[in-house]
Amino acid sequence: MSLVTKGIGLAKKAKHRFQDQIRARTPVYLSPVRRIEQVATEERICAMTFDDGPCRLPASPDHFRGKPLTLVLAETLERYGAKGTFDVVGDTSRNYPDRAGKHGSASWGGVSYDHYPDFRKDDQGGVVHCPELVTRLLAGGHEITSHTYSHILFGWKPLVYGRRKYLSGLDPVVQDLKKLHGAMEKGWGYPIRLSRPPHYVDGIKGGFSSYDAYALMGYQYMAASFDGAGWLPLASYEAEVEATWKPMEKILLENPDFFRGQIIFQKDGYNMARRSPIADGLGKQLQLLTDHGYKVVTVSELLDRSPFRDALPHSDVGAAARRLLGHGWCVAFQDNTLRPDTVLTRGALAMLAYGCETIRQRIRLVRSGKAPFRDMAPRHPYAAAAVLADETGALKAENGNFRPDAPVTAEELRRFLEVRLGRSGGDLPRQITHGQFFLLADALMGAGR
Ligand SMILES: [Zn+2]
Repeated sequence: MSLVTKGIGLAKKAKHRFQDQIRARTPVYLSPVRRIEQVATEERICAMTFDDGPCRLPASPDHFRGKPLTLVLAETLERYGAKGTFDVVGDTSRNYPDRAGKHGSASWGGVSYDHYPDFRKDDQGGVVHCPELVTRLLAGGHEITSHTYSHILFGWKPLVYGRRKYLSGLDPVVQDLKKLHGAMEKGWGYPIRLSRPPHYVDGIKGGFSSYDAYALMGYQYMAASFDGAGWLPLASYEAEVEATWKPMEKILLENPDFFRGQIIFQKDGYNMARRSPIADGLGKQLQLLTDHGYKVVTVSELLDRSPFRDALPHSDVGAAARRLLGHGWCVAFQDNTLRPDTVLTRGALAMLAYGCETIRQRIRLVRSGKAPFRDMAPRHPYAAAAVLADETGALKAENGNFRPDAPVTAEELRRFLEVRLGRSGGDLPRQITHGQFFLLADALMGAGR
């Protein structure tokens, strides 16, 4: 392992520890956009996402007689009856002036921007330049998701990508997403449903995040739970190929159920050493998964089979929440959990019922900078939903306070059900959890069906 790689590995470890600590301290909110990393399932199914393609350049080293890398990946998947999720870019050829950084560093393909499949070879990659590869992927039943049109960062990212140029706010981010969405719709009549931000940078100038951009697009946030190591440069190509499947083999021996519902992160392009170990590693990975009874499906199919992270699809709560989701209710937290045992607060109830229909109001509220209630800042994730809940009378504010963190009382719940669903809930508990609420609301709505 080279020093550079070792350094990256250590930095990554430290970063993950740091992120875990932040995660433990950051409150999580209900959100119309759910970050999909892994779903709860008892089936041996998983998904693979391939970032940064399509790529017309051959694998490197080329063991496939000049075949485009994307085609090599598609054919390998199809040999195993697997469906890939190709997280494509539109076109990076406008990302100049720029210069290539040091070989083997994070800026290998550009200092100010990314260039796929390589610096000054932008015309060999992206949906715009490789329509034949997109057509081929769709013909193979693979999914296309949006890795953005230009792969320009959504916002500033210190440390590794501190010198990168980034988009200047929410509008440019949404415009960029719309460009790729439009290209797929116009060229193939294909509706994109999922997206992953370039380098997972979420913060957008003006107090927004990728979740706001995806809410406006109607997308879900596609993340991953297992690293297929296709980006990782090592001392030799052989070592790189081994890194794509060896850890997987070890884990499967220890726990054959490990990959249930997981999303494996892969690369449709070159690593920092300009090699593509995934071209030879993918078959090994698929053989291992097949031997252990796994089926590799698209991320959308994974979500169709099981939408949430912490509830099995056929459990009472999971099934009720799925139906409410289908009715446009905002049932899940940002990390795609339902957290059924959490006590329902006034803020959460407002968000559950009105969160999905107040996306634009929320953005206007943040831009206005005016607090809607004395105890809710304009940036509070539930502020716009609380305004609508108050206006409709489903959940009234008092003396200018909404009290978003107060548990919902039986009296408040009764009024809410009458206003929002036009029915009375019968005997109601003094406090109610999210899980109990899903069952109650689903039963009441079912009674009206
Ligand atoms: Zn990328």
